[in-house]
Amino acid sequence: MVNQLKIGVLGIQGAYQAHLNILHKLGVEGKLVKYRQDLKNIDGLIIPGGESTVFTKVFGFKMELEDIQIFANEKPVFGTCAGLILMAKDLGDFRVQQLGILNITVKRNAYGSQTESFESEITGCLTPAYQAIFIRAPKIEIAGDTVHICGSLNDDPVWVENDKHMGCSFHPELTEDTRIHAIFLDKIRKQIKKLQMA
Ligand code: GLN
Repeated sequence: MVNQLKIGVLGIQGAYQAHLNILHKLGVEGKLVKYRQDLKNIDGLIIPGGESTVFTKVFGFKMELEDIQIFANEKPVFGTCAGLILMAKDLGDFRVQQLGILNITVKRNAYGSQTESFESEITGCLTPAYQAIFIRAPKIEIAGDTVHICGSLNDDPVWVENDKHMGCSFHPELTEDTRIHAIFLDKIRKQIKKLQMA
């Protein structure tokens, strides 16, 4: 049942409150995750946008990146913008520590600086089309064969998933449109069923 899901939002840096607001709107419980013990008893984790180099600096104080890697072996993770950067396999930027749980290569800030932030319709699996907000967004340069492209901007992938996880280079938490978070909740429900049947 929808109301029983408990979703963690990584609250060590970045735009976590907006994700909690959307979860509330969808009628599910959101829980701020600041320490490794907060990863217990949640069904999925959202890593918000912010600054991936700062996330990297904070890991090691409040929790280790490996704590999230262990969580992600079983449970779904959804990363937005900086969160997507952390989830990627390849980046080529030594200042960012990565989880490597989405088979993509990303380039930080490839859509421009803060002042070049923009809003645009993306094409893909949502009808009517989704209006996405891009802020210093990373570009998904390569999407490997284990990922499925859910949304694109000018033929470049901006929203991807694999069997368990999902990530997008834009900010779905900053719009009134809850459809992308709702899709993540469906992924979580599927994973719970899979684990129950295993
Ligand atoms: N450019 C930022 C980074 O590299 C991400 C921006 C964002 O999350 N809005 O981490």
